[in-house]
Amino acid sequence: MTGAAAIGVDAGSTTCKVVAVDETGALLASRLEATHPRLEEQAAGLITALVGDLGPVEPPPVVATGYGRQLVRGAARRVTEITCHARGVFGALGHGGTLVDIGGQDAKAIRIGEEGRPIDFAMNDKCAAGTGRFLEHTAGRLGVAVADLGPRALGATAEEPISSTCTVFAESEIISLIGRGADLDAIIRGLHRSLVGRIVAMARTVGLGPPLILSGGVALNPGVRAMMEEATGMAVILPPHPQLTGAYGAALIALEG
Ligand code: ADP
Repeated sequence: MTGAAAIGVDAGSTTCKVVAVDETGALLASRLEATHPRLEEQAAGLITALVGDLGPVEPPPVVATGYGRQLVRGAARRVTEITCHARGVFGALGHGGTLVDIGGQDAKAIRIGEEGRPIDFAMNDKCAAGTGRFLEHTAGRLGVAVADLGPRALGATAEEPISSTCTVFAESEIISLIGRGADLDAIIRGLHRSLVGRIVAMARTVGLGPPLILSGGVALNPGVRAMMEEATGMAVILPPHPQLTGAYGAALIALEG
């Protein structure tokens, strides 16, 4: 394997991602970990490990993004998540569109132009009910693994509507539903519907038009993908590594110098 030509780091609030690309922009290797409280040491350790994975080379240029980007030591540049996600999508798919990125603690909708640059964006980083945290929190409460939520939502034969617009109130609502003997999968399906409703409303503010692209850890959830398609009437397109999109975009920006 050849050495890395550039590295991108996405120091997210939930996960920290590092990716290496070769001189053509092809993804060579990546690492992903749950974000530690000592993010500065964690990011430095992940970069060292990634470079080690690829063999001895001159230290490649690093571009950092994500909420913790100021803590990434040795970064040549620090670039916003909006720009890096747009670059990552364009690099991976070769076209623009409406990108919806759903991470652990925020969600963004970015309209990406033909040249791969962001034209407009909207962000929710205030309300947990429109983010991966909403599903993660309720999964913990229901004793279901996060990766099983989507398949269970899709397999449900009924749906319990969740009317609360806040994670804390939704949790009380779920407890009442369980107390009334509601089916767990029907509750999970209702939770997905509620999250997707909020996300689609946000995406409409930037002019939700095709192609619709999903990124972030929540893009790995097949229930969210299916309900996004239902709610918008558009096919959902995924980049090859949805959770690495921001880090990949940062690596491409590092490569361009
Ligand atoms: P951030 O960049 O904001 O730190 P990520 O884009 O890594 O966050 O997304 C983290 C979220 O992705 C978490 O809320 C988690 O629940 C969700 N997630 C991660 N892996 C999966 C999976 N296999 N299936 C469904 N959801 C997932």
